[in-house]
Amino acid sequence: MPKKTKTKTTVKKSATKYIFVVGGVMSGVGKGVASSSIATVLQARGHKVTAIKIDPYINVDAGTMNPTEHGEVFVLKDGLETDQDMGNYERFLNTDLPSINYMTTGSVYQSVIQKERNLEYGGRNVEVVPDIPLEVISRIKRAGRKAAADVVLIEVGGTVGEYQNVLFLEAIRMMKTDEPENVAVVMVSYLPVPGSIGEMKTKPTQTAVRMLNSAGVFADMIVCRSPQGVDQKRKEKMAKFCNVKVENVISSPDLESIYDIPLNYEEDSMSLRLANILGLPNKKPADLKAWKQFVRRSKNGNDTVKIAVVGKYFNSGDFVLSDVYISVLEAIKFSAYKLNLKPEISYLSSQEFADKKKLRELKKYDGVLIPGGFGTTGIDGKLNVIEYVRKQQIPYFGICYGMQLAVLEYARNVVRLVGASTEEIDPKAAHLVIGVMPEQREKIANNDMGGTMRLGQYPAVLKAGSIAARAYKAKETIERHRHRYEVNPEYIAQLEMHGLRFSGTSPDGTLMEIVELPQNEHPFFVGVQFHPELQARPLAPHPLFTAFVKAAYESN
Ligand code: GLN
Repeated sequence: MPKKTKTKTTVKKSATKYIFVVGGVMSGVGKGVASSSIATVLQARGHKVTAIKIDPYINVDAGTMNPTEHGEVFVLKDGLETDQDMGNYERFLNTDLPSINYMTTGSVYQSVIQKERNLEYGGRNVEVVPDIPLEVISRIKRAGRKAAADVVLIEVGGTVGEYQNVLFLEAIRMMKTDEPENVAVVMVSYLPVPGSIGEMKTKPTQTAVRMLNSAGVFADMIVCRSPQGVDQKRKEKMAKFCNVKVENVISSPDLESIYDIPLNYEEDSMSLRLANILGLPNKKPADLKAWKQFVRRSKNGNDTVKIAVVGKYFNSGDFVLSDVYISVLEAIKFSAYKLNLKPEISYLSSQEFADKKKLRELKKYDGVLIPGGFGTTGIDGKLNVIEYVRKQQIPYFGICYGMQLAVLEYARNVVRLVGASTEEIDPKAAHLVIGVMPEQREKIANNDMGGTMRLGQYPAVLKAGSIAARAYKAKETIERHRHRYEVNPEYIAQLEMHGLRFSGTSPDGTLMEIVELPQNEHPFFVGVQFHPELQARPLAPHPLFTAFVKAAYESN
């Protein structure tokens, strides 16, 4: 007999508190960072906090979207491909988040349809309302239970007034109606200061609040993003017209660094205000000592270290999109701060280095990093860059594709394997030094591409005495992955005979996880099949990034 679930139109009461963060006026004002910062100040008060991101698109996860369109794909420990905001949450909260903490419209519909197929609705009519919002609510509650959270923060992507947000706003309305004492709504809005008048305008926010109200949802707090701080007069005006208490209008001006934001929020007593709104029991002030120390260190570097990140996704029309590699860039910064250095990061487009004359430019950097990537664009440039930094003794850190291409460059230019390539670019090449992983072959053939790469955490054993083992100070590590291709085991002996060292492998020894050149040959030449950047945190920098930044600084 198929399992039957009774549909509840009311939601069970609980002591867990829920804070929804919605956007007003426009996107791109840092709602993800605002959500992370709200979570951080509450965590600093001693509450157990978890954070959820809701994305309103139909894609089931973020893995099938082009990075130039969507930004970085952040892979969670358990393998879900998510939005980069999840990376912010993990970095700010210094915690791993599970896949139940991320949902898209597509994934919500997929579950509801699957339940319907399983006869779990007991033969009744399944409807967009209330079944979609109920699925959203049930996921939010599950995430709260899984984390044993006192506070669950839920960021709703996009801005109010967008058609695709409606069902999520309905979920908020239903939850707030059912347990008003446990639900708070924070609107992160934008207050422009038009150049022509030089005055901060509150009207767009008032309109956005009204739009939120028309969905039956009322804001308890407004976070005012703006080029400058909000004065008392405007706070009072907004309190009056937006129906919130004046102390719950929080000023959030543009700041030097996103890591200043939690500290800035506490200047307006944000955590206390939220504790009051939700009746949170613990009233001790937020303890942000470690955070403050990190922020101070980030501003007081003794010397600079110049790192070039060579990627193919940087250019978008007239703009540079560094968001695509956000975790990599942050990971470099955390390690530089730890070493008391000021990181100077340059974004270089790999396509440009197809012209070998341009390679000389790389001389001015202390270290070069090639991050993950897919496909053929910019490959010649990347291979040229790797050959150059290998020969010129410039510290190199290759991540995922950056590792595979380092192995390919070595096969071509040192082992001298004529016709060496990666199956991703040239499946008919004479020597497929990088080949498709056996379990991936069928998936590619069937166009089964969504969520099917080798994803999430896997262990790697480290070779004693290697650069990797010394950096980790361990014999084993666990890192997150996202790839379909691997170093072809048939070429390992030949590559090693010519000097390349595979210093990290899967525990069964079949899959190459880390490759390096011995330190007497190169100051730092390391490639990793996994994505260490996904586990780098402000309060816990990643040891491999630290080793790379240190080698870069010391080698100049
Ligand atoms: N394109 C390569 C693969 O699929 C590398 C992936 C990556 O860099 N994330 O294996």
